[in-house]
Amino acid sequence: MSPATQFGPLLRATHRASVMSTPVAVAAAVAGIGACAWYLRSNSTASSDKPIFSSFGFHTLRLHSTELINHNTKKLRFELPDASKPSGLSLTSALLTVSWPTGRWLPVLRPYTPVNDLNEPGYIELMVKLYPNGKQSTHLHSLQPGDTLTFAPIKELAWTPNQHAHVAMIAGGAGITPMYQLARGILGNPADRTRVTLVWGVNTDDDLFLRDEFAALERAHPGRFRAVYVVAAPAPGSPHQKGFVTKQVLEKAGLAAADAKNRDVKVLVCGPPAMEKALKGRRGSGVLAELGYKPEQIYSF
Ligand SMILES: Cc1cc2nc3c(=O)[nH]c(=O)nc-3n(C[C@H](O)[C@H](O)[C@H](O)COP(=O)(O)OP(=O)(O)OC[C@H]3O[C@@H](n4cnc5c(N)ncnc54)[C@H](O)[C@@H]3O)c2cc1C
Repeated sequence: MSPATQFGPLLRATHRASVMSTPVAVAAAVAGIGACAWYLRSNSTASSDKPIFSSFGFHTLRLHSTELINHNTKKLRFELPDASKPSGLSLTSALLTVSWPTGRWLPVLRPYTPVNDLNEPGYIELMVKLYPNGKQSTHLHSLQPGDTLTFAPIKELAWTPNQHAHVAMIAGGAGITPMYQLARGILGNPADRTRVTLVWGVNTDDDLFLRDEFAALERAHPGRFRAVYVVAAPAPGSPHQKGFVTKQVLEKAGLAAADAKNRDVKVLVCGPPAMEKALKGRRGSGVLAELGYKPEQIYSF
């Protein structure tokens, strides 16, 4: 994950505060707060002809509306300051969110991935899964239309059309959002001929909160996009495979590296730590290595 590079001074100051003696920790925390306040003051929502997130800086946006998508996921739609311009985010990007819960010394910083069309003027949309006691997800779920939130852009994998013949996306839970951003970016570009295979592992059928959007992509791009779902505890009569994302599931989805059609495949991974560990293993172990993929073919969001 890349925010550490862009937020080096701030993140290092806040992290160090947690491992120091009390007076030093307090001083470091104050320095962290000062650095954050400085960033926020010096960069917030300056007027410019360029789209707001086309360069690095913090910007505070107003929440336009929310929509409950399932038992634990909300869609949050934020207004950009210029309704005629898109966000300026490039494929692929996330947004670092900053909140400052009442009574806490330090701000909470977490990345989220916009899921609306990056070319849409006037808005960005996030899909946020609520984690029990999750600091930022709880805050985001509590926001009401008219409330504000501060963001800064984070560049993720820089996508070049047709650089790979085939992309394998392997996602777990809310790790689906970067995959959706990229899939719609690839398939929405008539000049990009990349094939995309998605394997998404979730706990229950209800967790497949982007299922309709992926079904629309499958209908619009037959032969180029395919989505495979694996559900740990499927409902009776569920059409989806039961279980976890294993070597057998990936082979069945046509993702063994040995297949001639996968010679130029790029593998993208985003999911909970246990899933990423099982897939990537250590030093050449893990499911992806067993399937024949080299470390340089694999990218983790
Ligand atoms: C590049 C990137 C993009 C992301 N995009 C999105 C997105 O679009 N939508 C979205 O909902 N999330 C996304 N995330 C995850 C998000 O940044 C937060 O990590 C998540 O919302 C939890 O933050 P929190 O402060 O609520 O929980 P925390 O306070 O950090 O953690 C509270 C508890 O929640 C549980 N928990 C936290 N994170 C996870 C996890 N990933 N898997 C399983 N359990 C967890 C743990 O039990 C933890 O102890 C993204 C992460 C990355 C790195």
